[in-house]
Amino acid sequence: MQTLEITPAAEELLLEDAPHQFVFSFHEGNGKNKQLLGGKGANLCEMTQIGLNVPPGFVISTEACLTYLASADKSLPAGVIDQVVENMKAVEIATGKKFGDAENPLLVSVRSGSALSMPGMMDTILNLGLNEDTLQGLLNHTKNERFVFDAYRRFIQLFGKVALGVPDAKFDEVFEAQKHKAGVKVDIGLSAADLKEISRLFLQVVKDVTGKPFPTDVYEQLEIAIKAVFNSWTGKRAVDYRREFNITPQMANGTAVNVVAMVFGNMGNDSATGVAFTRDPGTGENIFFGEYLVNAQGEDVVAGIRTPKAVIELKTEMPSLYQQLEELRSKLETHYKEVQDFEFTIEKGVLYCLQTRNGKMNATAMVRTSVEMAKDNILSKNEALLRIKPDMLEQLLHPRLDSLHKSIPLAQGLPASPGAASGVCVFDADRAELLGRAVEKVILVREETKPEDIHGFFASQGILTSRGGKTSHAAVVARGMGKPCVAGAEGIEVDVKLRQARIGEKTLHEGDYITIDGGTGYVYQGVIPTVDPTFSDELKLLLTWADEVAKLKVFANADDPDAAKKALTYGAMGIGLCRTERMFNASERLPIVVEMILANTEEERKAALDKLLPIQRQDFKDILLAMAPRPVTIRLLDPPIHEFLPGEDELKEELIHLRHLKDTAAGVSNLTNSLRLLHAENSMGALTAFPFNDKGVELIDQAIVKKEQMLKKVHELHEVNPMLGHRGVRLGLTFPEIYKMQIRAVLEATAECQKVHIDVRPEIMVPQVCTAEELVRVKAYVEEIKAEVQAQHNVTPVFKFGTMIEVVRACMEAGELAKEAAFFSFGTNDLTQATFSFSREDAENKFLPLYAEKNILHDNPFEVLDTNGVGKLMKVAVEWGRKEKPDLKIGICGEHGGQPDSIRFCHQLGLNYVSCSGPRVPVARLAAAHASLGEAKNASL
Ligand code: PEP
Ligand code: MG
Repeated sequence: MQTLEITPAAEELLLEDAPHQFVFSFHEGNGKNKQLLGGKGANLCEMTQIGLNVPPGFVISTEACLTYLASADKSLPAGVIDQVVENMKAVEIATGKKFGDAENPLLVSVRSGSALSMPGMMDTILNLGLNEDTLQGLLNHTKNERFVFDAYRRFIQLFGKVALGVPDAKFDEVFEAQKHKAGVKVDIGLSAADLKEISRLFLQVVKDVTGKPFPTDVYEQLEIAIKAVFNSWTGKRAVDYRREFNITPQMANGTAVNVVAMVFGNMGNDSATGVAFTRDPGTGENIFFGEYLVNAQGEDVVAGIRTPKAVIELKTEMPSLYQQLEELRSKLETHYKEVQDFEFTIEKGVLYCLQTRNGKMNATAMVRTSVEMAKDNILSKNEALLRIKPDMLEQLLHPRLDSLHKSIPLAQGLPASPGAASGVCVFDADRAELLGRAVEKVILVREETKPEDIHGFFASQGILTSRGGKTSHAAVVARGMGKPCVAGAEGIEVDVKLRQARIGEKTLHEGDYITIDGGTGYVYQGVIPTVDPTFSDELKLLLTWADEVAKLKVFANADDPDAAKKALTYGAMGIGLCRTERMFNASERLPIVVEMILANTEEERKAALDKLLPIQRQDFKDILLAMAPRPVTIRLLDPPIHEFLPGEDELKEELIHLRHLKDTAAGVSNLTNSLRLLHAENSMGALTAFPFNDKGVELIDQAIVKKEQMLKKVHELHEVNPMLGHRGVRLGLTFPEIYKMQIRAVLEATAECQKVHIDVRPEIMVPQVCTAEELVRVKAYVEEIKAEVQAQHNVTPVFKFGTMIEVVRACMEAGELAKEAAFFSFGTNDLTQATFSFSREDAENKFLPLYAEKNILHDNPFEVLDTNGVGKLMKVAVEWGRKEKPDLKIGICGEHGGQPDSIRFCHQLGLNYVSCSGPRVPVARLAAAHASLGEAKNASL
């Protein structure tokens, strides 16, 4: 569980005597202070102060929440109640109503709201202030019995659930039974008498479950409600959510409570309630996007109980209010310079804004709105860039359904959150979590989702609901998480108990595969192939703005010509790491590599390398051509060579099998049944066939000899710590012909390109270097081969020669290494391993999860660069390297090169480039821009 961090300020308050201000009216609260007032409270203050029609109310601060939660006896801090009463008086004056009054009662909502929006994760209570007396007053005043009892039953249920801990299901059962009795399908069909009866039964439910009558004193109700909302900060949902989204106490600490005069969207057909976005949050298009319900309360829209209407329909239903709503939309966006997600209520023809917050949008929408708002001068280009978190772009790499698929959809709902996903259906969040953990891909299928389903969202690939609109809980949460969602697919009947869903004639059982397309709203049976997304024009433009401000260049790690071409489409400005060993693994190449390894003499080894030379040359040529005139960093062979041979156990088993085959073949060879074949799968995965005759025996013998040789070699090459062993430059110096072949391949490819005037930029990089002398030796090979290639091709190959910095000693020797190298590239995978003495192969599966859970290490150092340890080594290396050679080009090619925080650190170190996997390139380009803009901002402070 996330621990509660009591700020020093809150701690002081516990000891403080003098009255402290915990409560702020909407007229006085500082709209910029979200930490103190929560996002919702701060915005209610700001909207009030810029003249928007917000119902009167006040905010109880997050300080009050933390002080309350830290108190031993769970009492509100001294002064809170007095300040609440004082503020309630002001609300009474502003509304002309009185709290607890039997004539014209004031009702309030008690809403949660922390510094960071956590939609639906904490509690809210509506219609507070109802009891037998005020009920009568409300009846006298509104003359609307149905409305009054509707408000009452909602209040009892919400208060019962949130403040008194009565399970929701108890109320739902009573409610459904009464609907059934009344013969109605939707709650709007219930009469005043039905609702009155439901209210009576609800009061009884509360008494049965809690053993006490429902509280009738309105200030007692208010105090209980305030505490309940504060408590919801440490509730499971909220804690899970904060953990999942890494919300630290520095980002949001405690929830504020907003007490707001109730306005009613369910006062008849001139009343309505709705939720809207100033732009389409799914696509980012500049259209008014929202939904509303006439004669309903706010929760009805988001809970998906009734399917709402698109906001545009209000234009015909209530034209002048639609006009006011359009004005509100535009005022909100120009004031906040951000797409707003706001709630409104129309009470008897008067429009109120109940809350606003920055719209949560998927990456597509963020990119489009950023670009369009910059073009419309609402934002500067830099503001547009800073609006998007770099990691968010990863969402754009989500797959889409292959447009060539021919599947007929089973059902259609609303396209509520784009992207496509396949998985097995599950019908409740707990099962989703369970099956999701069992490494199944799951799609959570629900009638509607509720905040308590959040763990099911985390576990699922996508969400499908049969009720609710594009602003339903399911849609909002899925969009925030970047997961596909189809909402309101009304043809689907979900039966949670039977773990199945019916769609017309079809029945889907738990475990059946479905595919959902959140871009079209279609639902399909089975798994449908997906394709990679393409870049939108807006994203391309945004990334060019990023490149204009970034100081770091962004390269890609790519090992073959296809990967290099792909990296180019992501905007890679070069290849920062080509791991040449990966070229050796192709099935037609591996046997040659094995031949080279098994060679007993230098001649034999050279013969094998001669076969590899043209293959490597062609690979290098293709990559250089694909990237020309961008740099391509080619790293000489790095891993220990035993990695190209099968394991010892595997070889031993093969030998047993081959010997057995030989006996069989010898036994039957007299039958001369040469048509029959014996099969043996060799350790390279290929199936070898041996005929049943003398020839077969001979071939098996040869195979046995080869395997025995391999086994012997495996024994010879065995090392206790191969990662610290005979690899990298050490290998290159013991078997010079291997590196020489690779250097020749690079330089010949370069010369061939240069001869036809193609500007290629190879950079030869040596791995695992720990001393300058190693570099001197390899450089000598390079010079020798360069002279030969020059003579042979009559051109001077142009290239750079540099080193990886991935060994601690290399950092310490950076000055000496810089004398020999034109560039450094930090291999932070190995450097992290070496600095921590954590095996990069095992740590992440063994103890790092525990270290993260217990906060022993804040981040996984293989994911996020450890600036305190590894970073300090890098700093020293940069300093000493550049002291020796001021124009030394320095980059990073470990996994950290694509991680935004690490990229910021590389920028601060003054590196020239980062290199990461192709799909991370857009993320890195934006992160590099953020790093520059962050620096500029700090400089101007
Ligand atoms: C590194 O060590 O960071 C690196 C890039 O090399 P490899 O991952 O291939 O060891
Ligand atoms: Mg390495």
